[in-house]
Amino acid sequence: MKRLSILLAGVAFGASALFSPVMTDTGFGISAAQAQEKGYVGISMPTKSSARWISDGNSMVEQFEAAGYKTDLQYAEDDIPNQLAQIENMIVKGVEVLVIAAIDGTTLSNALENANAAGIKVIAYDRLIRDSAHVDYYATFDNFEVGVLQATSIVEALKGNGPFNIELFGGSPDDNNAYFFYNGAMSVLQPLIDGGVMNVKSGQMGMDTVGTLRWDGAVAQARMDNLLSAHYTDAKVDAVLSPYDGLSIGILSSLKGVGYGSGDLPMPIVSGQDAEVPSVKSIIAGEQYSTVFKDTRELARVTVTMVDAVLGGKEPTINDTSTYDNGVKVVPSYLLKPVLVDAVNWEGILIGSGYYTEDQVK
Ligand code: BGC
Repeated sequence: MKRLSILLAGVAFGASALFSPVMTDTGFGISAAQAQEKGYVGISMPTKSSARWISDGNSMVEQFEAAGYKTDLQYAEDDIPNQLAQIENMIVKGVEVLVIAAIDGTTLSNALENANAAGIKVIAYDRLIRDSAHVDYYATFDNFEVGVLQATSIVEALKGNGPFNIELFGGSPDDNNAYFFYNGAMSVLQPLIDGGVMNVKSGQMGMDTVGTLRWDGAVAQARMDNLLSAHYTDAKVDAVLSPYDGLSIGILSSLKGVGYGSGDLPMPIVSGQDAEVPSVKSIIAGEQYSTVFKDTRELARVTVTMVDAVLGGKEPTINDTSTYDNGVKVVPSYLLKPVLVDAVNWEGILIGSGYYTEDQVK
């Protein structure tokens, strides 16, 4: 009798689960039974101040839930203690996997100790988590190649033999990616600087000097203002290496402020990354020269597939086992290919892939 009532309860639960979907942030519904069957995923994103992370979060929730997982998506607004508290909270809530895009890749060691003690698997998302043995896998893009694409697009756009004046900007020094972007770009630019084809008039080089904490566009704009007033009153700047669209927009404002892009002062060649809407519009308007598109839907897909394998006790597909040493271990990684976007190909790549509609960027 007892057995029968348990069975009946099970049937009732199954039936109600079938007809009452779990509603989520995105409004996508899956059955509770399915969600419980597959597992619970904590997704910790750095900030909503940049559109790319919003796309990453939405794509992951959509794809995880479609695959039968329950999700908890949190944004930390670039505040490190906030991200730590959100992760600790996910551990308490009982997630089986943490997918983390760190604000500061060096501050999560304690949180990951706790995750490990609770048997939780950890995927570093887009940004490597440093100084911890408890990072199981890393899903990202080929970050060195991002820098190569940015610098190559600048070099190819400059007309004539030079010498050209270029200024350099780096990303946030607490983000491991920033070094890969900078080193990738410098693998192209350094030989030209050494050969006298390019000249960094300010002399400001190296991530220690050109890094931009928290990828802050206002900080980049202020630094560009200073560079222009200190080094370019009698000369013009021909190119600016910018590693991220949010910085590029600040840099372009500064340049416009002193007359670049009008009269006989052409806008310097300015690079970028993420294909964010304001930058795509700027590219179409002939201001920003290029950006690097990293399809966040694809990164979400790779991550969902990784989690599925890990929770199923299988080895996920990886394609890099040597590049990403986090200081404690080399984290097995899957690297996606970044794509250069400029005024010539933006439509085919961004609209053609369905990432944006024409209306969004015009
Ligand atoms: C990401 C870039 C992004 C930057 C600023 C990096 O870690 O890889 O895509 O532009 O952070 O958000």
